[in-house]
Amino acid sequence: MSKILDKFLNENLEELRNAGLYNEIDPVEGPNGPTIKIGGKELINLSSNNYLGLATDEDLKVLAKEATDKYGVGAGAVRTINGTLDIHVELEKKIAEFKGTEAAISYQSGFNCNMAAISAVMNKQDAILSDELNHASIIDGCRLSGAKIIRVKHQDMDDLRAKAKEATESGEYGKVMYITDGVFSMDGNVANLPEIVEIAKEFDLITYVDDAHGSGVMGKGKGTVKHFGLEKEIDMQMGTLSKAVGVVGGYVAGKQNLIDWLKVRSRPFLFSTAVTPADVAATQGALQKIMDSTELHDKLWENGDYLKAGLKKLGFDIGQSETPITPCIIGEEKLAQKFSKRLMEEGVYAKAIVFPTVPRGTGRVRNMPTAAHTKEMLDEALAIYEKVGKELGILK
Ligand code: PMP
Repeated sequence: MSKILDKFLNENLEELRNAGLYNEIDPVEGPNGPTIKIGGKELINLSSNNYLGLATDEDLKVLAKEATDKYGVGAGAVRTINGTLDIHVELEKKIAEFKGTEAAISYQSGFNCNMAAISAVMNKQDAILSDELNHASIIDGCRLSGAKIIRVKHQDMDDLRAKAKEATESGEYGKVMYITDGVFSMDGNVANLPEIVEIAKEFDLITYVDDAHGSGVMGKGKGTVKHFGLEKEIDMQMGTLSKAVGVVGGYVAGKQNLIDWLKVRSRPFLFSTAVTPADVAATQGALQKIMDSTELHDKLWENGDYLKAGLKKLGFDIGQSETPITPCIIGEEKLAQKFSKRLMEEGVYAKAIVFPTVPRGTGRVRNMPTAAHTKEMLDEALAIYEKVGKELGILK
C-alpha cells in the first residue's frame, strides 16, 4: 500500500474512533422486520425505514420470484441500450399514477436519483436554494450540477423569500431552484410546502421535493406533496422505493417534458444498469398495495403516535417530530452512542445518529416505528428506554 494512503487512513480512522464518531456496522441475520437478529440475539427493531413493513411482505416475495422466473436475475444492460424491460415501463406508469403526475422516471437508488436529476436540470449558470438540513444526496447532486448553492435556514420561509428575491433579481443566474426534503428524516418534521409554492410562484423558482420519508407515510400514503394537494405545483417530486415501498430504487415524477429530458440527460439512467426484474415486480406490487388500502399507513401512524406519547411521557426530548419518525435527542455524541449500545444489550435496536449525519452536539437515538410493530413490542421497548435512560442519567 502507498505509504501516504496508509498514513492518511490510519490517522483519520484513529481520530474518528477517539471521538466516538466511527460507525460500527452490525449485520442483520435474517429479515429486516419489526424484530431483527443481530449477533444471534433477537431485538426490537426501531431503526429501519421499512415504514409499512413491506420489505418482508409475503405477496411481494411471490411477485419477485415470479419475475425472476420470467425475466432472470438481471436487467442485462443500461436503460438506454436494452435494459428497459416492459416491466420498467409499467413501473414508471405506476409511479406517475401514485404521484398524480403526467410521467415518471426510475433510477437504481434514491441517492443516485438526486445526483442524476438535479444535475440534469441545473448547471453552472444557475442557482440552487437548498434547505440547510437537506439530505446528503441532495447536497451532492447540487454540487455535481455546478450551480451556485445558496443555503437556506432550516424551514425559514423569511430567509427563503429574501434569498429567492436576491437570487432572481440579481440577474446573475439563469434558472433558480428551491430544493427541500418533504419529511426531514433526522427530526421527522414536514416541509412547509404551501408557503414554498407561494414563494416559488412569486419568483418563478423550480420546486424540487425529496419525499424519501414522506411517500407511504404522508398524504394517506401518497406523500407530502399529495398531503398538501400540490401535485400540480411541485415541478419535481423525487422519492425512493427503498423505504415505505420496501424494495430499492429512486424516481422523479413530474410533467412529460421533464421526464423526457431526464431520460436523455441523467447519467445513471444512461450509464448504469437498471434494477433487477425482482425489484421492479415487488415495487409495482408495493405501490399497488399502498394505493389500494390505507390500512398499513393507518397502523404506522397509530404505532408512531403511541411510541411518541410514551417517550414524551418518560421525559425524553423528542424534538419537533410531526411524523412517526421520533428522535430522542441526547446531545453529546458519546452519550448517544452509549445509550444506543445499552438499549441493544437490553433488547432494542435503535441506532445512534451523530455528526456528521446531524449537527455536532445533537447526537440522538432515532426511533422508526413501523406498521409491523405490535403494541407489546412498543411497550417492551418503552420499558427498556426508561431503564437505560435512568441508568445513564438522561431521565431524572
Ligand atoms: N433522500 C433522503 C431524504 C433520504 O433519507 C435517502 C436515504 N437515506 C435518500 C434520499 C437516498 O435514498 P436511497 O436509500 O434509496 O438511495
